[in-house]
Amino acid sequence: MPLISSPSIQVLSSHLINQIAAGEVVERPASVVKELVENSLDAGADSIQIELEAGGTRLIRVTDNGHGINREQLPIAIARHATSKIRSLEDLEHIGSLGFRGEALPSIASVSRLLLTSKDGESSHAWKIVARDSEEPEPDALEKGTRIEVRDLFYNVPARKKFLRTEQTEYNHVENLFKSLALSHPEVEFRLIHNQKIIYQLTAADRAEVFRQRVARICGKTFADSLAEVNAEVDGHQLTGWIGLPTFNRSQPDMQYFFVNQRMVRDKLISHAVKQAYADVLFHGRHPAYVLYLSMDPTLLDVNVHPQKHEVRFRNSRMIHDFIYRSLHRTLAEIETAQQVSSPGFALHQDDNQAVPFDTPTQNNLVLGQFRRPAAENWVGETIQSYSQLLKPSAEEADSPQADEVPPLGFAIAQLKGIYILAENSEGLVLVDMHAAHERIVYERMKLQADSEDLVRQPLLVPLVLRVSRSEAELVEDYASLLIEVGVKLERLGEEQVRVREVPALLQHADIEGLVRDVIADLAEHGSSERIRQHRDELLGTIACHGSVRANRQLTLPEMNALLRDIEETERSGQCNHGRPTWKTLTLEQLDRLFLRGQ
Ligand code: ADP
Ligand code: MG
Repeated sequence: MPLISSPSIQVLSSHLINQIAAGEVVERPASVVKELVENSLDAGADSIQIELEAGGTRLIRVTDNGHGINREQLPIAIARHATSKIRSLEDLEHIGSLGFRGEALPSIASVSRLLLTSKDGESSHAWKIVARDSEEPEPDALEKGTRIEVRDLFYNVPARKKFLRTEQTEYNHVENLFKSLALSHPEVEFRLIHNQKIIYQLTAADRAEVFRQRVARICGKTFADSLAEVNAEVDGHQLTGWIGLPTFNRSQPDMQYFFVNQRMVRDKLISHAVKQAYADVLFHGRHPAYVLYLSMDPTLLDVNVHPQKHEVRFRNSRMIHDFIYRSLHRTLAEIETAQQVSSPGFALHQDDNQAVPFDTPTQNNLVLGQFRRPAAENWVGETIQSYSQLLKPSAEEADSPQADEVPPLGFAIAQLKGIYILAENSEGLVLVDMHAAHERIVYERMKLQADSEDLVRQPLLVPLVLRVSRSEAELVEDYASLLIEVGVKLERLGEEQVRVREVPALLQHADIEGLVRDVIADLAEHGSSERIRQHRDELLGTIACHGSVRANRQLTLPEMNALLRDIEETERSGQCNHGRPTWKTLTLEQLDRLFLRGQ
């Protein structure tokens, strides 16, 4: 056996240590921008400018008007583990600043050419220092604050440089980061310049209105027009901000901003709570949009979880989850006229992310109608009653136009193309998407029944046998009890066969095969997850979709009126289960405008 000599153990050079640390915090230009801007914010700046060249790969320059660094401290600022923000472990427990690890500047300096210029309140002029250069600081010109230039990122680490993407992609990462930084500190003026072009110029939001303008500029006008305000407080925890109406939903979770004590976080607990709050109004892989601010006692929070500090740990995570969930759920259930008046027109999924000025007037906004939903307790019986009227073709007793008061959604006048119900109310014309509205009603009703464990099932006279794949048959077996809970009794017959024995009584006239196949597909999609409760409502949504009136079914006027009354009485019926609006009002005024009357 050859003799292997043991390798010699050596202490790493500090430069190498910094480069290794850079691997954790400096991934790309955007991460440099993040560290630099966070330093500026920690320095109390209220004006921050970010300049980039070539997506930040060639140059990143951040200039702020914060408290600055004096001459003596300049070399220390770029030394490893040097920070002005904490002194002890105790400080770490109630950290108020964004940084505290003292590793950003040395890490960045180890993988780029870094130049630091700063002037603090006392000095008569600014000083600059070149990192990794043993020269003394030199006088420089800068009125106030700090300017940090980072050139040629990764010029000395080819392996990392290889991982950088195109200029455009790197720029996009910076821009996304910029958006969240700008939202995190609305009171700070921000400017973003790329290749000499001003991309964003955001004035400090000293008033709510300017704050909203910033939100509109960053998230797009459509979002700004389709949001509900959140304002909740419990035990010193405050949740404020905006959430998108369910009708404003996105195919990607790309417009979700959550700040804890003004720090951007991406946290599973939080996104789960939000998702749950939207569970009833958003389905099929669509994502809500939100800009939310949680402020709380920093001692109940651990931010030292991750070098990039995206994650936080809450001391009382259960309570935080509930607080977020409840606040948003309530906001969604209460979405009322005030916010909906300005909601955009008929567009179903608004993915546009155009950053246009907030105050551009919208044309021909169609207004979601106004009415107050009755409290949840008292709509139960009536909904069920009028629902059954709807199923009976001769629903003679349904509200008739002679009634004293015009109900919020008015009275049906016609059906359009088998899709829409047209009704007249005191404001003008109400348009109802029949299928969507009915789906919402069926869903809410099934949910209510399922919650009280009396979802009535109806045995099929002739059980239906379906061929499915082996894994699907296994799912049916595994989830038999959940299926019962949602009203479907299914059993596995053989390797690749299942039999449908019972379905929800409400849906006996539905296309059972389509329904069951969709339900199995839903199960497959969620596979092994344990969040059965959450799945249950999704399954109910799928089922409800099959149970509702299909397009092209002719309804009689009484049937239509019965549906209108049901909508009025059903929670959240302004949205269908897929987050689409179920009805809209076109006021007389808007109609007049359409015909240029009185102009
Ligand atoms: P940390 O932010 O974790 O303290 P950094 O390496 O990012 O560590 O910065 C080191 C120190 O340099 C900071 O603690 C701060 O005192 C000083 N510093 C960095 N950037 C600025 C700035 N823009 N304005 C004032 N001081 C700064
Ligand atoms: Mg820092």
